[in-house]
Order: sequence, then structure tokens, then C-alpha cells
Amino acid sequence: MPSVFIKTYGCQMNERDSEAVAAQLVAKGYVLAKSEAAADVVLLNTCSVRDFAEQKAINKMGNILGTARSEQRTQITGFMGCMAQSRGRELIDRLPDVDLVLGTQKFHRAAEYLDELLAGKRDKIVDVEAEAKSEATIREHLLNGSAKTSVSAFVSIMQGCNQHCTFCIVPATRGEERSRTIPDIVAECRELAARGVREITLLGQIVTSYGRREQRDIWQVTSDMKQPAEPHETPLCHSSLSTLHSSPFVQLLEAVHEIDGLERIRFTSPHPKGYGDDLVAAYARLPKLCESAHLPLQSGSDRLLKLMHRGYTREKFLGLTRKLRRARPGIGLTTDIIVGFPGETEEDFEQTLSLCREVEFDNAYIFKYSPRRDTPAAAMPDQVPVAVREERNHRLLDLVNDIAARKYDAFIGRQVQILVEGPSRKNAARYTGRTRCNKIVLFDGGERHRGQLMDVKIERTGSFTLYGDPAIVNV
Ligand code: SF4
Repeated sequence: MPSVFIKTYGCQMNERDSEAVAAQLVAKGYVLAKSEAAADVVLLNTCSVRDFAEQKAINKMGNILGTARSEQRTQITGFMGCMAQSRGRELIDRLPDVDLVLGTQKFHRAAEYLDELLAGKRDKIVDVEAEAKSEATIREHLLNGSAKTSVSAFVSIMQGCNQHCTFCIVPATRGEERSRTIPDIVAECRELAARGVREITLLGQIVTSYGRREQRDIWQVTSDMKQPAEPHETPLCHSSLSTLHSSPFVQLLEAVHEIDGLERIRFTSPHPKGYGDDLVAAYARLPKLCESAHLPLQSGSDRLLKLMHRGYTREKFLGLTRKLRRARPGIGLTTDIIVGFPGETEEDFEQTLSLCREVEFDNAYIFKYSPRRDTPAAAMPDQVPVAVREERNHRLLDLVNDIAARKYDAFIGRQVQILVEGPSRKNAARYTGRTRCNKIVLFDGGERHRGQLMDVKIERTGSFTLYGDPAIVNV
């Protein structure tokens, strides 16, 4: 049987797509190789968010092809994912030994195309066409793979984004928003729960827009689920306290919440303007929805938020953080911030710093602005010099780290509930779990702890890590 090695660049969506492709290939009889050198097929699942990520994947493929040539090995190689979608045939023009270029709506065709290439029926395949219903094809899981996947799983609920932020290439690589139906997603989550998964993270490029284009169609029944009488009523609602009309995304959360055996629900990536009052209220009334919210801020300056086409103001964002903290005290808040967006002045940057001081995020992922071809921001005037981007990156990082260290230190002496995912990747003698507010906790544990919800007392902290002792509270 042919062996395959998949290397993934980029975000959790890409990780999930790679897992679905691997599961598809395993079901067709492929075996998963431990390294690229040992594989008959090597696929690179690529990221286009920054130029650096694209160059890294191209260089990697160049090395793979060079090594195979010098060792006189025959290997089928392919690019898939975002860069495959945006560059298409150009990748084969640049690296003529590459056999396959598979776009973001074609992951489910991987096995069929690889079979043709391995059998010598076709020489090169480039497929980056749009395909209706492809959003429903990222479905299969490799649950007996890593420790993490058997306890906690990612479920893709939608593809694409219609927001068109001026810096972002995602609408071009992932296409228009397309959502799976609620019964389809719930059926996948139920299967996962039946196989021992206790935590599900709902995934998409902009999950808070889930189902907005499809509205009533999100309830198309493909299983034995109940259908709501009215599309905006809260169907299968966990709590009768809900009086708000729910958005499709909240309807989905409520439906997933009903699944027996599932203990925790998370989601990523949301958009701040998608946190309507119904979603904020869901945090207060759906106990399985973990008290953790990612709110991609991008900038604290209204002028820049407008240039970025983000669709909210600084004040609205601050109001949202207050509402969430009222709904779920102790909620963990994280964010993404871009420094050095075109036209960003020192004053704009100060606005970002002051917002971070006010909100006190638990963590922030900071990105130095990187121009992406075919995005409006790349052609904007007043591009910020690289040295200024670097300097602002360091200043913001220092502030975010200081705040986070204080927030992590405040956990010392507290008892928290964790879901144990498995051995730590860095030290197999330690086990790793996650708090409901999404903080990693390390403790001296064993295989018997995997998949358990348990209480630990936090004894000390490290960099974005808590160290706990379960023995103290589980005597
Ligand atoms: S909402 Fe997110 S994925 Fe969509 S365009 Fe903006 S940054 Fe990109």
C-alpha cells in the first residue's frame, strides 16, 4: 500500500483539513509515513496568510524534490490548501516536478487524484475550481492518532469569509461563506462523542457568521433531529431561560450542547461584530460552552479599524469585553493584533496599547503587518517601514506578556477544573490539560488521567503555562 506524509503550515483550519485528507487516504488503504523521506506521497498543506509562510512551503518542496532526485527515489508530491488555491498552475511552472495542486474546495478529491497519479494515468493534476457543497466534505477524523485528538476534536462548520478585511487574503483562498447544516454537524459531533471525544471546537474562518447566508436551510434534516417551528426560535434549547431570538450560530451551539457525553464546547475563529446579545447570553446559559472567547481586535484605533474594514469601533469592542465578563465572570479573553498596518501612526499604535491595558487580555497573538498580493491594503499609501513594525511589535509584546504574567500568577493557590488531553509534548513524564478558560496546565500524571475532567490546585506558573497538583484536591 502506498504511504503518505502530510506536512501542514498555518492555522487550525489547515490542521483539520490535513487530518480529514489523512483519514480519507487511510480509509482507501494508504498508510501514514513517519517522515517525508519514507513516503511514496508527500503533500504540503499550505498557508497564504503571510508571504513568509508561502516561501517556507515553496522552499520545503524544493528541498523534498532535490533530495528525492539525488537519492533517485520516485515520489508523488503535491501542494494543497490556500497557496495551492491562490497560485494554482504557477506552482508547477515554478517547480515542474510537482505532480498535484489541490485547491481549498478539493480536499475530498485527494485519494482519487493520487490513485490516478500513482497508476500513471495522468502526469499532472491542477484542480482549484469551486465545488458546490465542498464545505460538507471535511468530516472524517483520525481519532486514534495523537493523544489530543481522542479527547478533543475540531469540527469544521463552514468555509470561506465575506468580510473582506483589507489586509486578508482568506476570502480569495477560501471563497464565499458556505455553511454545513446543523443536523450534519451534530451527527459528526455525536459520532465523536460516542468515540470518547469530550471537547469539541467548532471551526471556520468566521464562525460567528455561520449560517447567515443559508438561514432556514441550516436545518435541512439529514438525520433524525428535530426541526424548529420557526427559523429564529431557539430550537433544542438547553435552557428555558432563553428569550432572545438566536442567530444560526447560537442555534448550532444549542444543538451541539444537547449531545450526551460531550463536556465542553469551544469555537474559533469568531469576529467581534458577530458577538450579538444572543451569543453573549449563550455564555451565561450554556454550561458546556467554555468561558473563553477569542476576540480578534487587530487595532485599537478607530481610524485603522475603518481602513481595515473591520466593521466595529474601539468603543463597541470595549463594550463587548464588558458584556462578556458580566455574562461569565473569569472568562479568558485572547486576541489577534496587527502592528504596522499601512498608515499606522504612533498615535494609532498608542491607542492599541491603551486598549490592551484596559482590557487586560489573557494572551494576544501579534502579527507584524505583511503585505499580501491582491489585497487592498498592499496598495495603500504610507506603508510602515519594517524597522518601525519590529519596534512596535516588541513594545506590544512586552506589554501583553507583562499583563499575561500577572493574570497567570493570580491562579497560584486556586483550584481549577481541567480536561486532561494526554502526555506533554515536551516532557512525556508530565500530562497536560486545559482549563475551561483555555489555559494549559501541566501536572505529574499518567495514562489513567487521559480524558478525565479533574480538579487541580495551581502551584506555580511558567510562560503561558500553569503547573498544578491534582493530589491535593483529589484525595
Ligand atoms: S474576518 Fe478574518 S478571515 Fe475574514 S477577511 Fe477578515 S481577517 Fe480574513
